[in-house]
Amino acid sequence: MTIKLYDTDPYKTEFDAKVCSCTPIEGGYDVILDQTLFFPEEGGQTCDQGTINDIEVYDVQITDDIIHHYTKEALEGSVHGYIDWAHRYSNMQNHSGEHVISGIVNKLFGFNNSGFHLSETEITTDYDGFLTKEQIQMVEERANQIILENHPIFCEYPENVSDIAYRSKKEIDGAIRIVTIEDVDVCACCAPHVKSTAEIGMIKIVKSMKFKKGVRLFFVCGYKAYQDYVLKHEQSIAISNQLSSPVEEISNNVERILQESYHLKQKIVALKKESIDQKAKNIETKDIQIVFEEDLDKATQQYYFNILNEHANKHVYLFVQIEDGYRFMIGSKEDANLLLNQLRNHFTIRGGGKNHFVQGTILAAKEEILNIIS
Ligand SMILES: [Zn+2]
Repeated sequence: MTIKLYDTDPYKTEFDAKVCSCTPIEGGYDVILDQTLFFPEEGGQTCDQGTINDIEVYDVQITDDIIHHYTKEALEGSVHGYIDWAHRYSNMQNHSGEHVISGIVNKLFGFNNSGFHLSETEITTDYDGFLTKEQIQMVEERANQIILENHPIFCEYPENVSDIAYRSKKEIDGAIRIVTIEDVDVCACCAPHVKSTAEIGMIKIVKSMKFKKGVRLFFVCGYKAYQDYVLKHEQSIAISNQLSSPVEEISNNVERILQESYHLKQKIVALKKESIDQKAKNIETKDIQIVFEEDLDKATQQYYFNILNEHANKHVYLFVQIEDGYRFMIGSKEDANLLLNQLRNHFTIRGGGKNHFVQGTILAAKEEILNIIS
């Protein structure tokens, strides 16, 4: 069994140890020490980062209470290890924050924590019951009050846990480590925690989604919450400046601009239809109608196509320019697929249709298309 120094000294960043074994494995070495400060990947949390004798530890795993440090170089004898403190402390803040959230959810709504994931990029906690937006806001507000109230946090291995009411995600073999947040939560947990809720700094639930029969909350605590605030502050200030709008009003103003843009688009569509109606007055009926247009939405293209179709004895080709080709509608009193296959022999085409009407996109220039169809 490896002595877990992080159990008793989560704030220490350096330690001495003796190498018990160093086994070559594919791409490196599996190093077992008599004691370590490296928290392994366990309980949904990623492992500590750092070095042993200046050699990077790229992974840390635990099996049967033995902690395995994975390195690129071999180690032997007495060694000195360093833990990346910023990474460790961020994990402590976020893990303690999760206990605060889970304690509140359990007390207020009776739901159990059914999953936890803490990595560099994402922190989530799952519950076996669903929470509404208002309930999540209530949990977040209470969590931040608990931070301000500065509740002490204790981690210990009680001799007898049978008298203690604690939360636990699974049955635990052997000694049970109990993490107590005074007056807030009691939970079985193996990870390093901060000494008091004040050190969590801040808890922000940033997203939620239905998960299995309950809910998954995405959250950030401590320095990560500060970084999240900076990112969102910069974004909202940039939008506020672009709109010349106070930050408190940007959502309303964006909504207004989107409405304006929608109405303008509707207006453009109406004007285009009007111009097509004008053109329709001068269309002469002939065997084949071939028309190229620069800018028409699909619905207006269909409208124009129907008019052209009334003025064609045999076929209609209507091409509307798009990024690197044309969006086409082809109609035929005979077989539109035959016309489409004629084009397909020469160009890249997506689309298809029925006997008298086909539509899709074609990658080709106007002159190339005209060479084939006219
Ligand atoms: Zn925990």
